[in-house]
Amino acid sequence: AASSAAPRFDNAYARLPERFFHRQSAAAVPAPRLLRLNEPLARELGLSVDWLRSPAGLGLLSGQDVPPGAEPLAMAYAGHQFGGWSPQLGDGRALLLGEVRDPHGARRDLHLKGSGPTPFSRAGDGKAALGPVLREYIVAEAMHALGVPTTRSLAVVGTGEAVLRETPQPGAILVRVAHGHVRVGTFQYFYARQDLEALRLLADHVVARNHPQAAEAEIPPLALLQAVVRQQAALIARWMSLGFIHGVMNTDNMSLAGETIDYGPCAFMEAYHPDTVYSSIDRFGRYAYVNQPGIAQWNLAQLAQCLLPLMADDPQQALPAAQAAIDAFPDLYAAERLALFRARLGLATAREDDAALVDDLLSAMAANQVDFTLGLRALSALPSQGGPQTDEPARALWVDPTAFDAWAGRWRARLAAEARPEAERQAAQRAASPAFIPRNHQVETALAAATNGLDLAPLDRLMGVLADPFSDHPEHADLALPATPDEAVTATFC
Ligand code: AMP
Ligand code: MG
Ligand code: MG
Repeated sequence: AASSAAPRFDNAYARLPERFFHRQSAAAVPAPRLLRLNEPLARELGLSVDWLRSPAGLGLLSGQDVPPGAEPLAMAYAGHQFGGWSPQLGDGRALLLGEVRDPHGARRDLHLKGSGPTPFSRAGDGKAALGPVLREYIVAEAMHALGVPTTRSLAVVGTGEAVLRETPQPGAILVRVAHGHVRVGTFQYFYARQDLEALRLLADHVVARNHPQAAEAEIPPLALLQAVVRQQAALIARWMSLGFIHGVMNTDNMSLAGETIDYGPCAFMEAYHPDTVYSSIDRFGRYAYVNQPGIAQWNLAQLAQCLLPLMADDPQQALPAAQAAIDAFPDLYAAERLALFRARLGLATAREDDAALVDDLLSAMAANQVDFTLGLRALSALPSQGGPQTDEPARALWVDPTAFDAWAGRWRARLAAEARPEAERQAAQRAASPAFIPRNHQVETALAAATNGLDLAPLDRLMGVLADPFSDHPEHADLALPATPDEAVTATFC
């Protein structure tokens, strides 16, 4: 029977003291309609696709029915937004239902975004519009397929309700899946209140859930900090290696589970330039592409501040170790980044000059307005021995193709230092350099079709290639192309 397939929930967060959250049920949804269900993810979670597609499943996904064991709540948190302190943020339009256990035993949060007002809504309406919900659905799944740790998108439910933005928009709920929803801003919320007991409980919760090895350490909160620093260094390196610009790296959008979270005005860069900004709300470029590692480290320093009182009775005593954990970030990040770019250049070994080879390529790409994704992908098609006559597919992407030739000569000399067979090198590069990213103009086109006419076909075609971004998909080659000047999206909105 369908009812026997209803998932069994737990909610460990609901067992923390009441000041961690507000128990809240979802707003009534006039006409819920399942617009998208991510079947592979449902199976990965051990959920029955048939049940999720049943009326009972829709009751869960729309927040109308509380499944057994779930305890819907809005989490309290604070955060630095664009560098300014906000003591009270919290889930203003979202609810944590609780956790399901995937077949590997891992706890995965199910979370509704756009589920109605909460005490943390401030001036907001608690709702989400279909366009931004589908945007998060697409980009999060694309990130996953690109190998980036991220929250996932399980479903999109249309509410049948109009949501007022600049113009009325169809309303929707995103069902988000994560390995946890605790943010740097959650720690800041309690630190600002000097609530040491809450900080301790929160740290214990995160250690148990996401960083169990830290429990074995001599000073578990220090080990937690070190683990989060390592995790973020690896995460930001992935973003940078793919040209991803998050756009809202506020401390409330940095997850202790190490996943990319909160897809708002994010974007993938087209022509490479380190100063690129897309977000319409990032007026001073605080969260520009090139600033992301530094901002991550700044956010981690805020976390360190919050954990300090847990590390020693006299926080001053713990300061050197906490500072060292934060100071380790640049080198950890640089090592992760270099490893990822080495793979993109087809290098299997490490040599001292590799960082210069990467950085000089990127500088030359910036000067030549080379599409970041295609410029790197093109290298995978080139022979290990060649020159201008063999390199036209790559050269054609450069304003001055001779600038490519100059760099390619150095690259080939470096390849020659490895005895790697050409076909193996090319295959490794194809697996490291995607052919497809969610290009902003293609995302906008898919969203416009979905919101204006409820035509989800363009979105399905786009998501089809983004689910397998390292293959060529010749029948969808148009989706790999950069925007023409007419199509170019220069600003993104949330
Ligand atoms: P974000 O910029 O997406 O990280 O959101 C910052 C804060 O604004 C969080 O506390 C959100 O819950 C809240 N928020 C964003 N949109 C809305 C909305 N439509 N209604 C209520 N709260 C919102
Ligand atoms: Mg947020
Ligand atoms: Mg957001």
